[in-house]
Amino acid sequence: MSTITTDYLIIGAGLAGLSAAKDLQQAGCQVLLIDKGRGLGGRLAGRRIGDATFDHGAQFMTAREARFKATVADWIDAGVAQQWYSSYPGQPNGHPRYRGVPTMTAIAKHLAIGLNIMLCTRVQTIAQEQHGWLASLDNGDTVYASKLLITSPVPQTLELTKSIEIPADMRARLERIQYESCIAVMAVLDGPTAIQAPGAIALEQGPIAWISDNQQKGVSKIPAVTIHGSGEFSAANIDRDRLQVGQQLIDLAAPYLGDARVADYQVHGWRYSKPSIVDPDPGLLLSSDTEMPPLAVAGDAFAGPRFEGAVQSGWAAAKMLINAKN
Ligand SMILES: Cc1cc2nc3c(=O)[nH]c(=O)nc-3n(C[C@H](O)[C@H](O)[C@H](O)COP(=O)(O)OP(=O)(O)OC[C@H]3O[C@@H](n4cnc5c(N)ncnc54)[C@H](O)[C@@H]3O)c2cc1C
Repeated sequence: MSTITTDYLIIGAGLAGLSAAKDLQQAGCQVLLIDKGRGLGGRLAGRRIGDATFDHGAQFMTAREARFKATVADWIDAGVAQQWYSSYPGQPNGHPRYRGVPTMTAIAKHLAIGLNIMLCTRVQTIAQEQHGWLASLDNGDTVYASKLLITSPVPQTLELTKSIEIPADMRARLERIQYESCIAVMAVLDGPTAIQAPGAIALEQGPIAWISDNQQKGVSKIPAVTIHGSGEFSAANIDRDRLQVGQQLIDLAAPYLGDARVADYQVHGWRYSKPSIVDPDPGLLLSSDTEMPPLAVAGDAFAGPRFEGAVQSGWAAAKMLINAKN
């Protein structure tokens, strides 16, 4: 058992954590990121089944704000992003949709270059010390950090901070935040789907919210679809047998699969997929107006319930922590 010391500890190497770390490191700070996942990127998840490749978390990003637009342009130059589409049959032109290349996780891997990241490691508890924070890890080690940023989905953040005296108004704001669930089915097919270019369908009603054709998208070498259950369907079925629920969604997706048959499939349940109730601020400095060492929370529940919001929240939290006085 050992204790690692760092200036900044960031819990979560999803988009918010990675974006915050990038800005902090740029400002000359010493940063350590810790994530319980095997891979980087959190909800930008991908998976392989044999020769099939899937984006099964976030499917695309939109870019509205100037700094984020410039960042997407940098990712395109670096070859880790490209425009996927701006409209599809039956849908009017909207914001251009950008995808990661070859998969969404490529963007997380690009952001992670040069950062100090510990994967497959869960922060089990955090405790307040006189001038910093002590995080206990599931491998028995501890991390002592002067400043702490937590970017897990907010219900998990509340669990992690339950022994810390967060001001009541801040805790109430965190408790208001809510998320949709999403059951994601990854199905390998024996032939092409009936989905028209660009290979995506969003459905307004019914148990399926989204189907994407990973082969048309350019993610998979062989036919492979991702099917997302709607928020309502996913919440009602998240604790049922996953393969049965997956089969139900596959059956409902039949009209979009054409003559293709499902050769294999896996199912992932996202209990916290996209926030449905968000906080109006881009991040919260929980330690402001307290004697606590600097502690901030960030993620897509703050600057907007999507890819772009998570990045902007990370940037905002980095600024808050740099300026935090305690
Ligand atoms: C199915 C699905 C589809 C989506 N589709 C889209 C889309 O098409 N477009 C779009 O813009 N957005 C989409 N989103 C939302 C988008 O993925 C998120 O807004 C964004 O990725 C959130 O990033 P984040 O950094 O806030 O959180 P996360 O990505 O959840 O990162 C948090 C990280 O914290 C880690 N963590 C949590 N607790 C601990 C702990 N105790 N110790 C260590 N590590 C911990 C987790 O492993 C995780 O990696 C989708 C999300 C899902 C799930």
